[in-house]
Amino acid sequence: MTHSGREALVARLDAALSAGQGAQADVLVVLRLRKLAAIGELMGEPAVNHILAYAAEQLSDFAERENFVANLGAGTFAVVCGRGSDEPDDLAQRMVAMISRRIAYGEAMLYAPANAGVCCLDPGLGDGRVHVERAMGALQQAMSKGPGFVELVSEARDARAVAEWEMRSLLEEAGLRGELSLEYQTIQGPWGGEVRKVETLLRWNSPVIGRVGPDRFVPLLEESGLIGPVGEWILREAFRQTSEWRIQTGLPIRVALNISPVQMATADFVATVRRTLAETACDASWIELEITEGALIRDFPRMRKRLEALATLGVTLAIDDFGAGHSSLGQLARLPVHHLKMDRSLISGLPDGTKRAGVVKAVVALAEALELAVTAEGVERPEEAAWLGRFIGMQCQGYLYAPPLPPAQVRRLFLTGVEAQVPAPRAN
Ligand code: C2E
Ligand code: CA
Ligand code: CA
Repeated sequence: MTHSGREALVARLDAALSAGQGAQADVLVVLRLRKLAAIGELMGEPAVNHILAYAAEQLSDFAERENFVANLGAGTFAVVCGRGSDEPDDLAQRMVAMISRRIAYGEAMLYAPANAGVCCLDPGLGDGRVHVERAMGALQQAMSKGPGFVELVSEARDARAVAEWEMRSLLEEAGLRGELSLEYQTIQGPWGGEVRKVETLLRWNSPVIGRVGPDRFVPLLEESGLIGPVGEWILREAFRQTSEWRIQTGLPIRVALNISPVQMATADFVATVRRTLAETACDASWIELEITEGALIRDFPRMRKRLEALATLGVTLAIDDFGAGHSSLGQLARLPVHHLKMDRSLISGLPDGTKRAGVVKAVVALAEALELAVTAEGVERPEEAAWLGRFIGMQCQGYLYAPPLPPAQVRRLFLTGVEAQVPAPRAN
């Protein structure tokens, strides 16, 4: 018999997964028939129903009694079955062949080729819902290759799906579970030495998929809405750390934080910053908020208002990744920003490539005209640092000085400074 709906499927998968033993030998196959819309247009709805009934019958016959077939609608079916000695993709291929046959319909022959996505049941992967999502992802891949293709869920391709599920359950089920942490990277003059400023960088160490870079999981936080609570946690933790460093070292330390445009757009963002500063005994003037160039331009009028409210609180504001996008200079001049962070793509390889060197010179001149501080990001080579050293007030950030580090190591660098072997600048 064919069950209907995703819920019945998820319940069946959850039961198989919690039964544990032997579950590894079970597979979930999701199949979808193509061309149904075209057939419907040409031959009418009854022809489509004829094909669907045929496919459902074939799949029910194929799957033995204790197995499970669900009709998910829109020409999509799911089968949960033991795979015996078959390779999972061979099994799926047979199912595809079986439902893709030409069948008679009155005088006509109907043909709707299929695709399949396959996921082996594994309790380590997550619950039934995750299995369905991943099999659907594999099905999409198979469909993009053409009729008849079968795609197996693979670790690499679906790390993103796991990450998303992990991220969601991370907060929903067990709070922060200690998997998220903050590191800080020093910002200093081109020759190294004294450190009075750091940038906060979020880290996620997942027991399931290991260390994941923020480039990959911050977008997931944004999509899932978790950037709200996680963003608030980042503010609190970084503000608390700033106060602690100030008290421990007595030094005028400043700390920068990256703010997601999604976080920035939440209605109570400014109020949250104000409240969190008060709760952590952190002075607004110790904090800088970084927001990317792209985010500012996308929603300029609203962002401008937000930035004005934040500037009124007393925090300073930086434009991140400057030079990677297309800021309008006219717009830039109308924003209450204090600092430009030049994107790594402008810095790496300096001073070779006279054009790029010219762009950096122009950015510095622009910053001077607008009375903005400038930091060069991603400084890795002594030659880059030496060339940047020609500009008065230039600040640098990059592996040449220090990688992002846990708080205890950063505290030591506040006290000792950083060393960098930078040669004297070439005359030019
Ligand atoms: P970003 O704000 O431009 O941060 C600088 C990135 O460059 C960091 O990558 C840092 O580890 C890396 N980096 C530093 N020095 C060098 C260098 O010399 N060479 C190279 N190749 N890379 C260097 P990370 O930590 O992977 O962060 C990537 C991005 O994720 C950040 O780019 C930022 O956009 C975002 N991000 C990080 N933490 C947060 C956060 O707390 N909140 C939000 N919303 N976004 C964050
Ligand atoms: Ca940044
Ligand atoms: Ca940046």
